[in-house]
Amino acid sequence: MNTTLHISSPRFGGTFVAKIEQVSGQKLLACYQCGKCSAGCPMAAHMDVLPNRIIRMAQLGMEKQLLATRAIWICVSCMTCNSRCPKDIRIAEVIEALRQTVLGTVNRDDQLKIQALSPEAIGALPPIALISALRKQTS
Ligand code: SF4
Ligand code: SF4
Repeated sequence: MNTTLHISSPRFGGTFVAKIEQVSGQKLLACYQCGKCSAGCPMAAHMDVLPNRIIRMAQLGMEKQLLATRAIWICVSCMTCNSRCPKDIRIAEVIEALRQTVLGTVNRDDQLKIQALSPEAIGALPPIALISALRKQTS
């Protein structure tokens, strides 16, 4: 289910977008909102914010709202969006940078402890959740 996004922030091109550009290696301000990334995303129907809107929110410095979206965890890193972008923005890397930003937040107490999970629970988790959890433990 997708939610309506009202865009009115005056923070276009601020420190948050610079940070995500640095972590992802992508030029977010090149995005002109054609929507091709979202149109080809196989997980779009399950996202609360579509991939093109993720880029837009980053451009607008909407850090708090963006890092709280479920969509960045729904993305399965299939790279379809990367191949469709006419501006050669690698959206999947941007989303990975957002996940890294969330996981790098200090004083988190919600880290997934894979060793404590049953095989059934592990089997029910999205693969990206397991990958992200293991990455957190090794970084
Ligand atoms: S990498 Fe993520 S955002 Fe891009 S098309 Fe695949 S699931 Fe969608
Ligand atoms: S395909 Fe590229 S230019 Fe188009 S909305 Fe997505 S990120 Fe922006």
